Amino acid sequence: MGKRARSRSDAGEGGSSGEAEPQYLKGPFGFQRRKRIPFSERERLGHEAPGSVLRGPPITVGCECGESAELRYGTRWTCPGCGRSYDTAKIPREDYEKIRKLQFRYRLLPIVVGAVAISLAVFFTLSGNIFAVFVLLPSVLVLWFMLLRPPHRRGFQKAISDLPTWDLRADS
Ligand SMILES: [Zn+2]
Repeated sequence: MGKRARSRSDAGEGGSSGEAEPQYLKGPFGFQRRKRIPFSERERLGHEAPGSVLRGPPITVGCECGESAELRYGTRWTCPGCGRSYDTAKIPREDYEKIRKLQFRYRLLPIVVGAVAISLAVFFTLSGNIFAVFVLLPSVLVLWFMLLRPPHRRGFQKAISDLPTWDLRADS
């Protein structure tokens, strides 16, 4: 009956051929060579990567073969030991947001303590009470390390352990 000529050109999406970017180069023996990362994107040495407070804590990915790595949310990682690759973007965004907010909340206390101590020191200095500054600063340090920090750390560790862990599957 009514023969409809379907436009076939809609089916084939033209122009997507340039999409596949060569992320990993296959080596001669089936090893996957990691893509060279530009210097600016490389993980910096040190305790914490800059910007991790606002961008969120790193995600620890443990491979089935025993290797592990700390990744930023949304990055991919290919295990150097066995070649499995993992994609942290598979973690639900809102779950990761919870962790990010939690970490940020617990970062606030040391910042507030420090800010209060500095403003008190400035206040005492300006009011000519230098002696009070010499008493204040050590007592703030003692107060922080002896009284505030241990329960603060325990609270953070407990809050973190209540959060879910994810079972990231290798993309194979
Ligand atoms: Zn592995």
